[in-house]
Amino acid sequence: MIKKRSEELFSKAKSFFPGGVNSPVRAFRSVGGTPLFIRRGKGAHIWDADDNEYIDYCCSWGPLILGHANDKVVEAIKSTAENGSTFGAPTELENQLAELVISNHPYIEKMRFVSSGTEAVMSAIRLARGYTGRNKILKFEGCYHGHTDSLLVKAGSGLVTFGNTSSAGVPESFVAETIVVPLNNPDAVEQAFLQFKNQIACVIIEPVPANNGLLMQTNEFLGFLREICSQNKCLLIFDEVISGFRLGFSGAAGYFDIQPDLITFGKIIGGGLPVGAYAGSSEIMSFISPEGNVYQAGTLSGNPVAMAAGIAQLSQCLRPNFYHELESKTYTFVNRLNSISNKNRLFRVFSFGSIFWIAFTDREIIRTAEEINPASMSFFRDMYHKLLEQGIYFGPSGYEVGFVSAAHSLSDFDCTLSAFDKSF
Ligand SMILES: *Cc1c(COP(=O)(O)O)cnc(C)c1O
Repeated sequence: MIKKRSEELFSKAKSFFPGGVNSPVRAFRSVGGTPLFIRRGKGAHIWDADDNEYIDYCCSWGPLILGHANDKVVEAIKSTAENGSTFGAPTELENQLAELVISNHPYIEKMRFVSSGTEAVMSAIRLARGYTGRNKILKFEGCYHGHTDSLLVKAGSGLVTFGNTSSAGVPESFVAETIVVPLNNPDAVEQAFLQFKNQIACVIIEPVPANNGLLMQTNEFLGFLREICSQNKCLLIFDEVISGFRLGFSGAAGYFDIQPDLITFGKIIGGGLPVGAYAGSSEIMSFISPEGNVYQAGTLSGNPVAMAAGIAQLSQCLRPNFYHELESKTYTFVNRLNSISNKNRLFRVFSFGSIFWIAFTDREIIRTAEEINPASMSFFRDMYHKLLEQGIYFGPSGYEVGFVSAAHSLSDFDCTLSAFDKSF
């Protein structure tokens, strides 16, 4: 495989950007080698700067549920941009996207658009603090919520800990407001509520944690969180930046039928353009400025081009059977992958809806971050390059999940499976 052009571009990029990239995982540090520079994408396929073709299971880390350059999304972006891309004033398209979302999502009444998942989470946390008048937040080890200061924390050594910062530049005093507990552990959550009675503003969780492997949580555990939050007058935030509009239109809230107090969105909602949102009941959302006194604003929030892309994408997701078809083809694909893994017993594929994760493990199920063996990542690295050589593209880290889009076809799966067969 020729990578000459990607190599040249990367070496130039290193003179412009730290590590040559604008988001760290793109740099291929955990798999080694040169990142591919992508020139174009169509459907489930991408082409790199050297014109090598790949079947793409990264799908920009989740937003592209219809695949690349979906005709209707492209058309909506073009025709909207012709009339101006941003006004800093309200436009009808904001109403249209909000109506499409709210009228098809029984767990929210009002929403606010922002421009990224990070911004959505940051704002939802501020709202939870403003609404409850409390400072502390509780998060789970193994969940990612974007790069907000108070969420860049990892667990310490006890069951209930204040986080240690996982990034330089985050003040200790910020981290002292973040409690970190393991996933799937009701005792740890109970202990935290006892220890910090009436101090916890919100519990935030990815209901389907998909940023550190795929750490499947049980309905019971999520139901337990709902209950303990209500008892303690603390808000439950579902961070559905990945799971929103992916596990069905109403995401994990709908899948588990659990009513969170706030939901954060990103990725799919923008149709491949930068959009995030947070949403909840009218009562809680009324605390947001200008109605309430929790301040939050954005120059490009709800800009018409991004709204049009979101509308074009989400209205296709609302087609009857859309999610059923996506999930059943993923299910078949994952089963076929697992039959390869049954032969060699090296890896196992876990999946939830159209999200899947290849884990080098012999565990039946993995529910917490500490159940992932870091040493197993060397297998992923080897597999990664073997698959890449055969035209199969995954996100370049063994902790990342893969996504199936509506554009992936049976013949894509056949190619992928035979590449797997050859690699092992
Ligand atoms: C991707 C992601 C974020 C951050 O979204 P950005 O758009 O990258 O800022 C937050 N939470 C979850 C669950 C995510 O998957």
